Amino acid sequence: MRASFTGRSVSRGRAVGRALLVVGRKRQFFRAEISEDRVEDEIARFKAAVAYASKQLEALIAKPPTQNAADIFDAHLLILESSTLLDGVAEVIRTDLVSAEWAVKTVTDKLVSTQRASADVHLRQKAVDIEDVSERVSNALAGGKSPLPPLPPNTVVIATELLPSTLIEFADSPPTAIITERGGWTSHTFILARESNIPAVSGIKRVTRRFDDGDLVVVDGDTGTVTFASKEEFERAVAERDGSAAAVGAVDSDESTDTGFRLYVNTDSTTKVARALEKGAVGIGLVRSEYLFPGIKGWPDEERQYRAYKAAAEAAAGREIRIRTFDFDLDQVSFGGREPEKNPALGMRAIRLGLARERNFRIQLRAILRANTEGNVSIILPMTAGVQDIKQVRNLIDDEFSRLEGIHFPKIGAMIELPSAVLVIDQILKYVDFLAVGTNDLVQYTLGVDRDDEMVADWYQSLHPAVLRSIARVIEAAKAAGKPASICGEMAGLPFYIPLLVGLGAEEFSLKLSSLAVVRRILRSLDRTQVEEIVRVVKDLDTTQAVEDALVAAYRTYWPDLLLTRT
Ligand code: PEP
Ligand code: MG
Repeated sequence: MRASFTGRSVSRGRAVGRALLVVGRKRQFFRAEISEDRVEDEIARFKAAVAYASKQLEALIAKPPTQNAADIFDAHLLILESSTLLDGVAEVIRTDLVSAEWAVKTVTDKLVSTQRASADVHLRQKAVDIEDVSERVSNALAGGKSPLPPLPPNTVVIATELLPSTLIEFADSPPTAIITERGGWTSHTFILARESNIPAVSGIKRVTRRFDDGDLVVVDGDTGTVTFASKEEFERAVAERDGSAAAVGAVDSDESTDTGFRLYVNTDSTTKVARALEKGAVGIGLVRSEYLFPGIKGWPDEERQYRAYKAAAEAAAGREIRIRTFDFDLDQVSFGGREPEKNPALGMRAIRLGLARERNFRIQLRAILRANTEGNVSIILPMTAGVQDIKQVRNLIDDEFSRLEGIHFPKIGAMIELPSAVLVIDQILKYVDFLAVGTNDLVQYTLGVDRDDEMVADWYQSLHPAVLRSIARVIEAAKAAGKPASICGEMAGLPFYIPLLVGLGAEEFSLKLSSLAVVRRILRSLDRTQVEEIVRVVKDLDTTQAVEDALVAAYRTYWPDLLLTRT
């Protein structure tokens, strides 16, 4: 019998392809081969990157951001200029015929594991420094562009955890399927995978040890299983895919867009803005700004940000576009001699990070404000805990606005994702123009379940009574204050939840483009009395299971189709 691995479905569909292992935690790589005649060019590219990284470090040593930082950067410079690294990488490029990125990774990984195995605590700690230097050189190699070459056709990407930014870098050569160990249904990677119809299975333990580059695999995103494929099976699937590619284009030709509800689209890329509007979105409800700059680690400079926001605002053609300030964590933007945070989801991230790095945050706020020449740009603040956060950001926005000319003051909204924000929602509403209920994070923080941790996926319950009460409470408070509240996050795009959300009072949804047509169809078919009846039944139920059973029973009667679109 063929080996079969069972995980969890995180994006539906079935695909056959050739395995390619993608490795790396902070920046991801795969083994990209080069021809022999490119060896010297590749070594020269590596040396130029080292020279650039040295200059950066020298500048940091001359003007250290904190008192002890100069010592750390001194140590980094020593590592960077050591022959172990310089000669080692050149040697790997020459003998293995691989890209400079892969060679840097190979050499530094080896150094890191040697240090980690050392009995001496100082040497063990040095592993973090080597990782930082490796990251700095990789960044320099990228030069602000994507460091990853395109994926070969029919590739199944396999990774312990695939970063969303890596998937975005593959936008022009998307994988056929994805298999990972970590990452749950609401991980950004799988939100993106579903949007691009890439089947994906997560939760396969030690996944990178079970497959090798070049293995032929079948990924069944409907059942959450992976098996090995025969050569014939692979060839048949490729031929079928090539045939059906020609037929694509016959997508949703939805007639009327009027549902009586306001439907916005979430996007991670400027180019999708116009498409969303063509498909009938009233505007862009959420731009996850951290994904607009693939290939760049750290804070993008003001001009680059301005260009991206301006392009997005222009593509929105007068419709509202809500740009969320960076929702990344410290690990995603920093270099320099520190251990990763133990709980990044609870750590220095989102507006906390913005407020702690005020100079960088002001740059982003200024770039967004400058893009608001037509008055259609709004700002959303991620992970607001309460009024104090909003007041502090508001002061920065007011200050930056006062120095600029020829622009409109933006509407300001808060993401409601923390239980604290739900509890003080009446107070928050006094300081913002609108709310966006981030259901992905609201479930995570209300139930204390890491949304990216596959192991606790059973406890990540969107239908938990506490989550439903929170959503109802926010909508009710927003209505009382006369301000809009959109339901954002994956719940808003999943047909199964729509009647319930409508019953809880939702009138505005912000969802991914690929869900727009189906959600619109459902909204058009809903009957208010049936929806109210569902909520009456569900309101007092005290377990997730009871809520789910009640919904299934109601749907069986009123909308049997919805039971097929559960996940
Ligand atoms: C959410 O948390 O629901 C949300 C929309 O934001 P993100 O998924 O980017 O955290
Ligand atoms: Mg969120």
